[in-house]
Amino acid sequence: MDLDPRHLEISSNLAKIQGRIRIAANNAQRSEAEIALIVVTKTYPASDVKILSGLGIDNFGENRSAEGEEKARDVQGLWHFQGQIQSNKIKQILTWAHFIHSLDDARHISYIKKALPEGKKISIFLQVALDGQLHRGGVSDEMLPLLAEEVLSADGLSLEGLMAVAPLGQDPHRAFSQLARIHSVFSQQFPMAKKLSAGMSNDFEVAIEYGATHVRVGSSILGVRTGPL
Ligand SMILES: *Cc1c(COP(=O)(O)O)cnc(C)c1O
Repeated sequence: MDLDPRHLEISSNLAKIQGRIRIAANNAQRSEAEIALIVVTKTYPASDVKILSGLGIDNFGENRSAEGEEKARDVQGLWHFQGQIQSNKIKQILTWAHFIHSLDDARHISYIKKALPEGKKISIFLQVALDGQLHRGGVSDEMLPLLAEEVLSADGLSLEGLMAVAPLGQDPHRAFSQLARIHSVFSQQFPMAKKLSAGMSNDFEVAIEYGATHVRVGSSILGVRTGPL
């Protein structure tokens, strides 16, 4: 099993990323234990998720509900939905995901409240658009309190914090310092929302510098994706 080339490739890439997370945390004078690594497995097969699980990873991220549902059936763990939400997929998302990172629409929160089975829980990050780049998902920061109140008004939904994606082509320092300011204001009003989901393969170290508690890393562990997404 250990000699399987895919296993070797993933374990070596993973060790490098974990090392870089450790260094970034040290540089930011933060504890490594505050930072969860979500390995984004979108477009990669369940066999890769099994390898990651064997290597001690238990947080997995997916952008498409059908794909997430299929892999979550095969591999136990904490599953994170981080893709664009479509109302007609919400019911399905709730069957496999433990976290939704990409909530940016009050109507979707109402659907979740209606569709969430009795006794089930879902943890929510609200997605904020940085620099007004709404086309990559997310709401402007003025909208956040309204969405937060909507999440908090229902049983079974917990408000974890904020999520953002750095605008393409922009210095991530600028993006994540803006995010840190927004999060600081937001978490004064909503003290339960302490988490910050930010940072991908290209910018997770900068995100850690600005307080990320959840980094979502895919291609630098599993390889560059060739499909859409
Ligand atoms: C694909 C994706 C990631 C992971 O990106 P990589 O560059 O592969 O690390 C993280 N977050 C979101 C929202 C994504 O869509």
